[in-house]
Amino acid sequence: MAEITLDHVTMTYPNGVTAVDDVSLEIKDGEFLVLVGPSGCGKSSLLRVIAGLESARQGRVLIGGQDVTTLQPKNRDIAMVFQSYALYPHMTVRGNLSFGLSLRRTPKDEIRRRVEHVAQILGLEDLLDRRPGALSGGQRQRVAMGRAMVREPKAYLMDEPLSNLDAALRVAMRSELLRLHERLAVTTVYVTHDQVEAMTLGQRVAVLRDGVVQQIDAPQVLYDHPANLFVAAFIGSPSMNLTEAEIVDGVVHFAGMRIQLPTSSPLRAHAGRVVLGVRPEDFRLRQPDDPADLPRLLIRPDVVEELGAERHLLFSVDARPVATGAGHAPGSDDEARLLATDRDRSHFTARVHGRERITAGADVELVVATDALHAFDCETGRSLTQTL
Ligand code: ADP
Repeated sequence: MAEITLDHVTMTYPNGVTAVDDVSLEIKDGEFLVLVGPSGCGKSSLLRVIAGLESARQGRVLIGGQDVTTLQPKNRDIAMVFQSYALYPHMTVRGNLSFGLSLRRTPKDEIRRRVEHVAQILGLEDLLDRRPGALSGGQRQRVAMGRAMVREPKAYLMDEPLSNLDAALRVAMRSELLRLHERLAVTTVYVTHDQVEAMTLGQRVAVLRDGVVQQIDAPQVLYDHPANLFVAAFIGSPSMNLTEAEIVDGVVHFAGMRIQLPTSSPLRAHAGRVVLGVRPEDFRLRQPDDPADLPRLLIRPDVVEELGAERHLLFSVDARPVATGAGHAPGSDDEARLLATDRDRSHFTARVHGRERITAGADVELVVATDALHAFDCETGRSLTQTL
């Protein structure tokens, strides 16, 4: 087991693209750290620098206190698990698990001990004589994990290891990974573009953009206190509603609406143009017995998505939308919504509970949790409610 330290690491590909830009990180011994961000933000490159598959142009990489910046991957005592787990098809599960150890000339008894131990942890004992072709996707994924585990490395580096699995299996494997980490407590760096995966797996999550770490913290802190617009838009699903607004004398004005800020709100210290952020879950349906002075919005949903336990009301407001560069995965609902956004109207989502019938096109009154509003600097995108 070991901590991993990146000290001002920069990595540039031969074509001139700087994929990792002055990144400094401390991953604690036994920690599960997730690197997350949209496609092309440099997650895989950063992982490959830690593994030694790419060289840092500047800076240092330390594993367990040892400077490994110039060491070959095989001498770094780490194990990688990739999205394409490429098991050897002609070998049994036992063969796949033991192959790497045989190459390293590990004694036979030791190989047997480790393979059996790992097979027991991963529930592969009854499958040891099968070939990969006769395994399910989840079982193959477990063998790939097992291949990394038998090495008993100082750290695991995982690059989207679950993205080839279907949705249900991904969720199941996610909880398996968590249990495994709890049991083994080996330092793990895990790359994903999926913020739900990041939030559920990471003890801490580092959000990357253009090779730069935007914020690194516990998932809940990223959600509650995003340091900037990019993190605010990337973390949370459906994503945070963002629009231009103005604060005057403790009142937020946007789209012809007024929201009085509570005396406790840190936003009262600001005046002028801001980017206002409202999480979809910080709206609720107005109830008949709500006090008359509660801040509310009269909206007319364009679409009502019935999800059983909750409903998403999609509506647009007369205020300019804000570009964040944090588009979620291609083809996601969020991207579709971004594409549907026109220049003068912002598309909002409210996530509400309750059994009243709501129909698209009919008036709905929403209450806003004014103590949960976010605001960002229009120029820099920095949060006005948090300090970086
Ligand atoms: P992510 O894993 O977040 O999708 P990558 O680390 O793969 O991002 O890529 C980061 C940036 O580096 C992107 O701009 C990508 O186009 C570029 N890149 C990745 N691999 C190479 C390569 N082998 N040669 C040149 N540029 C690359």
